[in-house]
Amino acid sequence: MDSTELLSSLSNVSDDTEFYTPIPAGYTKGQVKYIVVTGTVMSGLGKGIFSSSLARLMQSKGLRVAPIKLEGYLNIDSGTLNPFRHGEVFVLDDGMECDMDLGTYERMLNQDLTRDNFATSGQIYTSVLERERRGEYLGRDVQMIPHVTAEVKLRLRRLALQSKADVVFVEIGGTVGDFENGYYIEAMRQLAYEEGPANVLFVALTFILEPPSLGEQKSKAAQLGIKQLLQMGIQPSIIACRAQREVSEKVREKISVYTNVPKARVFSMHDSESIYLIPSAMREAQIDQQVVHLLDLTDRVRPSVERREWSRWQSFVDRILSPRSEVTIGITGKYVSVRDSYASLLMALEHAGAHLGAKVHAKWIDTSEVSDDNVASALADVDGIIVPGGFGTRGAEGKIACIRHARENAMPYLGLCYGFQMAVIEFARNVCKLADANSTEIDPKCRNPVIDILPEQKKIEGLGGNMRLGGRDVAIRPDTLASRILGGAATARLRFRHRYEVDPRYIEPLESAGLVFSGKAPDQPIMQILELPQHPYFVGTQAHPELTSRPLHPSPFFVGLVAAAMGREATGLKESPGDATR
Ligand code: GLN
Repeated sequence: MDSTELLSSLSNVSDDTEFYTPIPAGYTKGQVKYIVVTGTVMSGLGKGIFSSSLARLMQSKGLRVAPIKLEGYLNIDSGTLNPFRHGEVFVLDDGMECDMDLGTYERMLNQDLTRDNFATSGQIYTSVLERERRGEYLGRDVQMIPHVTAEVKLRLRRLALQSKADVVFVEIGGTVGDFENGYYIEAMRQLAYEEGPANVLFVALTFILEPPSLGEQKSKAAQLGIKQLLQMGIQPSIIACRAQREVSEKVREKISVYTNVPKARVFSMHDSESIYLIPSAMREAQIDQQVVHLLDLTDRVRPSVERREWSRWQSFVDRILSPRSEVTIGITGKYVSVRDSYASLLMALEHAGAHLGAKVHAKWIDTSEVSDDNVASALADVDGIIVPGGFGTRGAEGKIACIRHARENAMPYLGLCYGFQMAVIEFARNVCKLADANSTEIDPKCRNPVIDILPEQKKIEGLGGNMRLGGRDVAIRPDTLASRILGGAATARLRFRHRYEVDPRYIEPLESAGLVFSGKAPDQPIMQILELPQHPYFVGTQAHPELTSRPLHPSPFFVGLVAAAMGREATGLKESPGDATR
């Protein structure tokens, strides 16, 4: 919205009123419903998992849903955040680098999201300050309330309009009581008041402690957390209790008594084998029906859509629950101790496993100790190996040793981004005999920089939001493994996040020694997929196919790897759309 549009839509700006609530032109209250999800007691409870599961349930009733995550931090995006602290950086098709929860929404909803689905305090404050410089506050002193809160509401209403959603899911990062998130919660209180009854519903996620010394579940921390929300003027309608074991009837009762939430809406969200079991558990507890009732959505529900959607989902869940075989995939990784930094990768393996009826176990391999001498024992009990995305130098030589072992021993291999680059280095060194082949990211002075910085990256200064980012079309070479696993498509849409590439001067020598580049950028010599024809499954891609893998549409790259690890043909996946092939 430009400034004139904004001003014309301000119904009540003047210097003698405290109201400041810009409403986008064409917006009608009550048309869209909002579900606001907050967390208490501690962060990292899985708000995104709860919220996206509920969104999935609503979507499968034929309703249109749009999620938005509101982050408290001042960064403009997640691109500069350390995945070790904050979980993986998820990349959207439009190039936005965002929180990993956006990945959870994309997977649960099978829907591509955009930068409109992600806001940080950094973005909100920037908009407010830019508006102030343009003089659009008409002489007013600019305040957290009403101006900053108005910016938050404006974003939600704009998203509602643009997406034509029936329900907008608002997930507030962090925990109620965090200083930095306070204004978001206040904005939501205002939103509920302005939108009116039955239009905004609050969900509080909380945690039920079970100290080993007591051996029973305790609800006090949860009660206090929710009390804090009540103090901020927000009455939740649903409480989701995270816990290790199913939350007892007594504890749910206690929480109900202290929070004015009927026990039927105090939901036990205990640990489960897979996050994909949560929608079914919520449906069993009739949380979806309660929401339909509370938000007065009955007339919008389409039962025929629900029956069809639900049976497809259920068959996916059944395949997770009863695998017919097991495989182990070794994953080399710098952040070996934090699963969140590889969330999408683990999900992509789960999707591929469900597709093939196999349970996939991940084995983490710390490559800082791996060399050609001990690699065979490090990989002794894995059926296939992935070298995932990464930055910097740590463990690089160990990764190259793993790749060599996979190449020479017909072990299925999938290289993702950095893992693609490492495979090129390994091939250049050990097959092309280019001594000293390396990436300039690792050794800026190497004699054979087979991986070098992208020309467009050379001019860029600073680190924020400026890699080669987002969805791009990749031209697939016919009659290759890549073409077969992608169902014969001429192009595939994949997601990228990188600064380095195969130096075009080395393409010819690498290819004449037997490496096949089976995917490349349509109009530039940027290599995107590689493979080795004589190997059962040796594939690398400069892209991140893990980001576009979805439960019912697993990534063909991962299905290919898992199939090969199971000893099956990595082809014939035509029926699985996988990465958005065009
Ligand atoms: N560090 C490599 C690059 O910038 C790989 C990036 C990645 O794996 N995401 O190109």
